[in-house]
Amino acid sequence: MFDDPELGDNLQALEELADMGYIDRDTPAYGIAKKYLHEGEASFSEKQKYVFDKEVAPVIFKSCARCSEGIELSVLPIAYEEDLMLCSYHRHKHYKDE
Ligand SMILES: [Zn+2]
Repeated sequence: MFDDPELGDNLQALEELADMGYIDRDTPAYGIAKKYLHEGEASFSEKQKYVFDKEVAPVIFKSCARCSEGIELSVLPIAYEEDLMLCSYHRHKHYKDE
């Protein structure tokens, strides 16, 4: 069983990204993105891995502009919306200090 306490948040974030048009629900990329959240990258077939790398990874793997750490998926919809690619830590700092 793939047990991830963040799964619910991540699935919701994926839905928001789909609503915003970053991932198209009518394409295989959407199903593959969901599969990734549920089962991880190891579950992919070669073809799925290809689509994931080409269409999903560029959307969901973003680095923080300040620390270069990966941005948590749950924070990504707001990062896109505000055009502010920051991890949750630096997002918090950004609004607190500046
Ligand atoms: Zn950061």
